[in-house]
Amino acid sequence: MVVTSLPVTPAIGYAIVVNVVRTVAALRAEVGASRTGGASIGLVPTMGALHEGHLSLIRRAAACTDLVVVSIFVNPTQFNDPSDLAAYPRDESRDVELARQAGANVVFCPPPAEVYPEGFCTCVRIDGPITETLEGAVRGPAHFWGVATVVAKLFGMVQPDVAFFGQKDAQQCVVVRRLVEDLDLPIEIEICPTVREPDGLAMSSRNVRLNHDERARAVALVEGLRTVAEAIAAGERDPREAAGAGIASMTERGVVPEYLALVHPDTFEQPAVIDRRLIAAVAAPVGPVRLIDNLFVEPV
Ligand code: AMP
Repeated sequence: MVVTSLPVTPAIGYAIVVNVVRTVAALRAEVGASRTGGASIGLVPTMGALHEGHLSLIRRAAACTDLVVVSIFVNPTQFNDPSDLAAYPRDESRDVELARQAGANVVFCPPPAEVYPEGFCTCVRIDGPITETLEGAVRGPAHFWGVATVVAKLFGMVQPDVAFFGQKDAQQCVVVRRLVEDLDLPIEIEICPTVREPDGLAMSSRNVRLNHDERARAVALVEGLRTVAEAIAAGERDPREAAGAGIASMTERGVVPEYLALVHPDTFEQPAVIDRRLIAAVAAPVGPVRLIDNLFVEPV
């Protein structure tokens, strides 16, 4: 266990000390002591390179639970592209300080061998449209099996009362809800809204890899989604027509989506007609990175 020495937080009047732990045993010791003392436990799973989106989850966790655990683990099993895994930004000391400022009490930074020790051979496999469409179609369903497996492991390690996820990864949220329901896990899942840059771009750890021109073009994703919302507000009820309007808007801005689709918020099935609240979801390559975003859309 490493205890970072930190300044006094003026608003509270005493130092918030964040404990950085790297083993499941040390994590359990930290969390177990608090739980025995009656504390509620919040978990915010991340892959690091923290930004305001992550910090909003940590602040929310600090507001509704007594002990906030932030995990920082770049999970190899959910990467389908080795170069994406290798290029994933990492800066642990900066992340620990940001997490502390946002209200984290424990930061869990395990090495891969702690999460996947020799002999590890279990996979949480979720089938159906929620893992097979959109992100599952492009990255392969094993992407979400990797997510479900590591989230299940983190739930087992931390045993949180509440776990916090971002709407930015809408399909991941549905996968996690399914995991909790299907495996009867006694954990409340709270989904927090997507945090955006002033021009609307959804914050993402991958945004730092965009150059000036790519950063300007990246706003095409949210603009495409807004175009879909406007088409629906104007009366469009055909999902393909509405999505087509969004794709045209993106293409005009120099970004060609891998997909832009309307899906049911709980199942990720694609409806034949727009007659209820749906999610418009998009993915597109911009320069060296692949970005995703989504918006709720609703007929009025
Ligand atoms: P990641 O580190 O990308 O795996 O993200 C960790 C958590 O932060 C996930 O629950 C994400 O959905 C969430 N998250 C990432 N970006 C944002 C954002 N812009 N707004 C809100 N939550 C986010």
